[in-house]
Amino acid sequence: MKITQRTFDAVIVGAGGAGLRAALQLSESGLRTAVLTKVFPTRSHTVAAQGGVAASLGNSEEDHWHWHMYDTVKGSDWLGDQDAIEFMCRKANEVVIELEHYGMPFDRTDAGKIYQRPFGGHMSNFGEKPVRRSCAAADRTGHAMLHALYQRNVRANTQFFVEWMALDLIRDAEGEVLGVTALEMETGEIVAFQAKATIFATGGAGRIYHSSTNAFINTGDGPGMAARAGIPLEDMEFWQFHPTGVAGAGVLITEGVRGEGGILRNSAGERFMERYAPNAKDLASRDVVSRAMVTEINEGRGCGPHKDFVLLDITHLDPKVIMQRLPGIREISIQFANVDPIKEPIPVVPTCHYQMGGIPTNYVAQVVAPSGGKDAIVPGFYAAGECACASVHGANRLGTNSLLDLLVFGKSAGESAAEDVKKSAKAHKPVPQEAIERTLSRLDRLETQKDGADVRETLLAMQRTMQNHCGVFRFADKLKEGVARILDVQRDAQRIGIKDKSKVFNTARAEALELDNLIEVAVATMVSAEARKESRGAHVRDDAPDTPENPNGRDDKNWLKHTLWFKDGNRLDYKPVQLNPLTVGTIELKKRAY
Ligand SMILES: Cc1cc2nc3c(=O)[nH]c(=O)nc-3n(C[C@H](O)[C@H](O)[C@H](O)COP(=O)(O)OP(=O)(O)OC[C@H]3O[C@@H](n4cnc5c(N)ncnc54)[C@H](O)[C@@H]3O)c2cc1C
Repeated sequence: MKITQRTFDAVIVGAGGAGLRAALQLSESGLRTAVLTKVFPTRSHTVAAQGGVAASLGNSEEDHWHWHMYDTVKGSDWLGDQDAIEFMCRKANEVVIELEHYGMPFDRTDAGKIYQRPFGGHMSNFGEKPVRRSCAAADRTGHAMLHALYQRNVRANTQFFVEWMALDLIRDAEGEVLGVTALEMETGEIVAFQAKATIFATGGAGRIYHSSTNAFINTGDGPGMAARAGIPLEDMEFWQFHPTGVAGAGVLITEGVRGEGGILRNSAGERFMERYAPNAKDLASRDVVSRAMVTEINEGRGCGPHKDFVLLDITHLDPKVIMQRLPGIREISIQFANVDPIKEPIPVVPTCHYQMGGIPTNYVAQVVAPSGGKDAIVPGFYAAGECACASVHGANRLGTNSLLDLLVFGKSAGESAAEDVKKSAKAHKPVPQEAIERTLSRLDRLETQKDGADVRETLLAMQRTMQNHCGVFRFADKLKEGVARILDVQRDAQRIGIKDKSKVFNTARAEALELDNLIEVAVATMVSAEARKESRGAHVRDDAPDTPENPNGRDDKNWLKHTLWFKDGNRLDYKPVQLNPLTVGTIELKKRAY
């Protein structure tokens, strides 16, 4: 069957921070650039980012990119690639100042400079004491950033396709990426977007878990499409559980609250983080704080009638600071926890928040995949933001490094793509008909299965399996059982049939297509987690405890390597961590303590 084809120099899937930053680079360099997005750009999930974006501007106290780099490598539990981390930390000041010049309304210090607050794991002088590195616009930094970038793109004539859902990556027989197939959600029309450069910036997939800070649209579409097209997914076992989701609701309370002086307390009112992280206390990195909270709850020191949460206390702060620096947090607490944090502490529990792994890229955002025994650049394909794995976050991301990641690697993706497009004198390659047929047969499958499984039920089964078998603490037997269960759910997902067959505004159809992507991410996560027989960063197993030989349960001799999961055959492979930075010396391995 023939479908409509539209041709651009570059097509970007995703209009969050990463997609918009990449688009700006391409449009401003004069290339015809299309951005596809499931929601209006400024409703992308970046809008929810609260606490800030990291950059060692040193506006309030001394700071340095090398200290930032050290903290990021340490935060990643040494799984981050040190070339990419150096690149990101060195570029931070430039991309933040650029945003300031685009009109982003940062908070200001008395001297008129960008306001900076402390955040978990960000320290001065190679781990000495917390430092003010997070550049913030109150507790609405993502909102301010997304609006600044969107307006700039409008000025640069970026062409937006709003409520268009990309369905599959188009690759030819040589492996070159030639665009995507996509669904116009309003009309049900399927169109092929042909391009010389295709950039994925589809955000996270936190919806694989039952309790998540992520929006409903965070369904791992980029990794799902990449996996189906033969690209492996990297380090998918590493998921960040944010310490402070509102208990019972999952809505995020930014770490910026602890940056402004907030304290975590157990049922005895004790500031328990002093026992787990004597130096950084409540501002230790997220995996450390989440595990401490779960330990307090498991050992009976949780709060409330079921002793199943702890308290985040800011009642000692000046109400003026709360109203000025954390107005959104106060609103969230009142609406979702029914407490005014000026007067009462907020009930919080760790909640799934961020995917550290994703589509493998190098530090200039080109997608890389193994070919002939070594890594090779996939021609025409780039990825940035939460869907990508550069890898700067390794086994655990530091707060505010994600907004930085999407600015630095979004810009790099745009630069790399623009350079490649301008270099290539060739005309667009034809879109292979088989690629179109693959998408159409996925849609047919949904519409013709009569006794198919139900989308909602299958989604819930997946989310519960992930929550129960692959959470904050991981158990060898539970992981093994989890692999069997998630493969069962995957079989159900392949039998989904949609009952409402109308092609126009059919959310059941979109949900079923999203589930195809979520399930790829969930399987990749469970299989990769079961196989990694050590504890590192956010991946902590009961059978890999802290010993003098393996500090924190980390086994550098056997496991200092990246996981690659391939959809084909549900197979795993591994590749070395890049321990050599670009210009400075390697940050040597040691036990991680805060
Ligand atoms: C509540 C919350 C607070 C946070 N606070 C901070 C913070 O203070 N600092 C920090 O550094 N990080 C923070 N993070 C993390 C950070 O916000 C995200 O990692 C980051 O914004 C992701 O940006 P992105 O551009 O990769 O994706 P997103 O902003 O999620 O955008 C994804 C885009 O892809 C589009 N899309 C997806 N699939 C398709 C498809 N199939 N077809 C077409 N379009 C598609 C969507 O429509 C959307 O436009 C926070 C996260 C959460 C959940």
